[in-house]
Amino acid sequence: MSRKVLLLMVWVQLLLGAAFFASAQVRTAEALVPAVDSVGFHDVGSTTWLDVIVSHEPPPSIGSSHYVTNIQLVINGTTVNLSQTPQSQTTFTVQYQLGTNTDSYSVTARALCNVHGYGAYSSVVTVPESIGLVLFVVLTVVAVLLAKKTRVPHAHASTR
Ligand SMILES: [Zn+2]
Repeated sequence: MSRKVLLLMVWVQLLLGAAFFASAQVRTAEALVPAVDSVGFHDVGSTTWLDVIVSHEPPPSIGSSHYVTNIQLVINGTTVNLSQTPQSQTTFTVQYQLGTNTDSYSVTARALCNVHGYGAYSSVVTVPESIGLVLFVVLTVVAVLLAKKTRVPHAHASTR
């Protein structure tokens, strides 16, 4: 019985692990104004980071006089401006430290070009709190404790 419980816990942990890599994707299509291709997120330790992928066409080959000057984020209703230095690529990623991963966030983003103005806001992306991480740790501890507990009484039956 305890073996089945352990197997179940391993499966739950695998599922939770896979969920960590999930990130929301949004797409917008704009011509001249910069477009937010996607708003993703990932955890580093207990911190959640945003990955905002921006594309800006035509390529800023005119030189540094034409570029995305600002990335505007609206996080849980609060506006955050991330001023940018001239880009050398048409698609680039802007990272932003959202905060602790025990909180949830709703995020939308848009980008400002100094020639073409603001692009459209991305769809609202919901970053869920990483309750999975807590569960993962708890389940691991429980699994280890169970394994230790079951080892002694089943020592003679370990050949099955
Ligand atoms: Zn432009």
